[in-house]
Amino acid sequence: MADHDPVPESAIECALAQFHDAAERLNLDSGMREILANTKRELSVSFPVKMDDGSLKVFHGYRVHHNETRGPVKGGIRYSPAVDIDDVRALAMWMTWKCAVAKLPFGGAKGGVTVDPKALSEGELERLTRRFGSEIGMFIGPERDIPAPDVGTNAKIMAWLMDTYSMNQGYSVPASFTGKPISIGGSAGRREATGRGVFFTTQEAYRHMGLSLEDATVAVQGFGNVGSVTAKLFAAAGAKVVAVSDSGAAIYDPNGIDDIQYVIKHKQEEGRLPPEHAGDHLPKDDLLTLPVDILIPAALESQITSANANDVQAKMIVEGANGPVTCSADPILEEKGIPVIPDIVANTGGVIVSYFEWVQDMQAFFWREEEINDRLERIIKEAFQEVAAVRERDGGTYRDAAYTLAVGRVVEATEDRGIFP
Ligand code: GLU
Repeated sequence: MADHDPVPESAIECALAQFHDAAERLNLDSGMREILANTKRELSVSFPVKMDDGSLKVFHGYRVHHNETRGPVKGGIRYSPAVDIDDVRALAMWMTWKCAVAKLPFGGAKGGVTVDPKALSEGELERLTRRFGSEIGMFIGPERDIPAPDVGTNAKIMAWLMDTYSMNQGYSVPASFTGKPISIGGSAGRREATGRGVFFTTQEAYRHMGLSLEDATVAVQGFGNVGSVTAKLFAAAGAKVVAVSDSGAAIYDPNGIDDIQYVIKHKQEEGRLPPEHAGDHLPKDDLLTLPVDILIPAALESQITSANANDVQAKMIVEGANGPVTCSADPILEEKGIPVIPDIVANTGGVIVSYFEWVQDMQAFFWREEEINDRLERIIKEAFQEVAAVRERDGGTYRDAAYTLAVGRVVEATEDRGIFP
């Protein structure tokens, strides 16, 4: 594929292509393919919100259940201007595979509202959240569908959603949403879980390849909940975090950014990376092509595409975000010998600790953070080892192996349950 000729490579096209490749490898019959290539149910809502200036504005939102064969469905709710039904379908499908790779007793779902949350006041955000929560209430419930935070949402939004659901039920239902504040049944370690999982996965991949993280150079794209925690853990483990970026800027120091804690604090307090690092700034897309040992795209989907994959110089890519490497970039990276540890393994930390949160809420019995982190480490490292074993057996990429494993598990569950009636 010529790098001056980018092909369409949207999340849904890639999600379907990745699934069909796995279906081919697993030799699935056409009926099973059709079940798994489709979403089980979809809810599309339009709803008005009273804006601060007294006007009414109509917003559009979605909740999609991809597959519930292995259990109730799980997946985040995203607030972004880029949210559309196809995006949500792709993200829901990826959740099914993630839960299967990590052997969580869940199927996959996703939701979202087409909105820029930064453009709303706190009051508008709360009214939008509560109305959206009410609109999708018929899909939600601890034994049915348990949403969580995603891009543009956070613990506070989960609290409003859990409260709205509980008010509509008439009693408190803490297990209806995960990623909540600790005060209402949130789990210790949930906020850091995705970043911590990215770190554990990379640590395990490095161990598997016989490499040491000491002094390994790392570039992290995205400095939100996932990227900032990942960067902090790499720095603490003796790796050199040389570049970080957010949606506005990138900071690069080839000797390693020595004050990651300060950068995190600045980002949390001011909402952007510290401008006094201006001397080290580089165009933010250049972060993806720096000569580093480990590149962690932890922002949004479709960042490494057929247009820039040829320029990637990293020795390994670990997908912190969902779908940051497109399906047309994958073969280019494979050709270049750059392993990609896929999202459905590397970023499962979030949903793994969401699972712990749900279990704790259902039992009304809470665990210490060390317990959470130990169990997360065990589950995510085992998932990587199982994927690596399939890759050694079958060849191909880590993504191929992860899909073979995940799709295979959902197929097995479908066959064991049988088709109703
Ligand atoms: N939104 C996160 C993800 O994409 C977490 C989902 C969850 O915890 O249910 O994996």
